[in-house]
Amino acid sequence: MRRGPRYRLRTWLREHAPEPLSRLFPPGSRDCGEHEWFPADDATDRCWHCLVGVRPHRPVPIDPDSGVWQGLREAARSGDSGSQRIVLRMMAEHEAYEAVIAADMRETAGRLDLDPSAFDRQASNAAETSEWLTEAAERVARS
Ligand SMILES: [Zn+2]
Repeated sequence: MRRGPRYRLRTWLREHAPEPLSRLFPPGSRDCGEHEWFPADDATDRCWHCLVGVRPHRPVPIDPDSGVWQGLREAARSGDSGSQRIVLRMMAEHEAYEAVIAADMRETAGRLDLDPSAFDRQASNAAETSEWLTEAAERVARS
């Protein structure tokens, strides 16, 4: 009986074994069951663990609590140009992500037939918008 997603050990070995040993552990050919994505290029995201996981690229938000983000930001602040490039790219991704969320919210507000001017007044950021829209949807559901 299988517990949890496939190929995690293989991914770990690929990341930790030295070249050329790491090439003995390619991503699995079957669906891993729980894809974890990375941007393969500007148009495509791929799963770390399997070859089945492929999707059109979606922008991802920055996780401010992640050690990777904090380390990169620190290095960028101290003048490391490689880190500065990555931080700028991540911030652009984050903005694109917020734009996607905001467009989603507008579309949902449209479907619920809510007043778009109320939306603009209420929505100064995506989190607030989400909260407001949830409340609005609950009001509509109750009425
Ligand atoms: Zn996968």
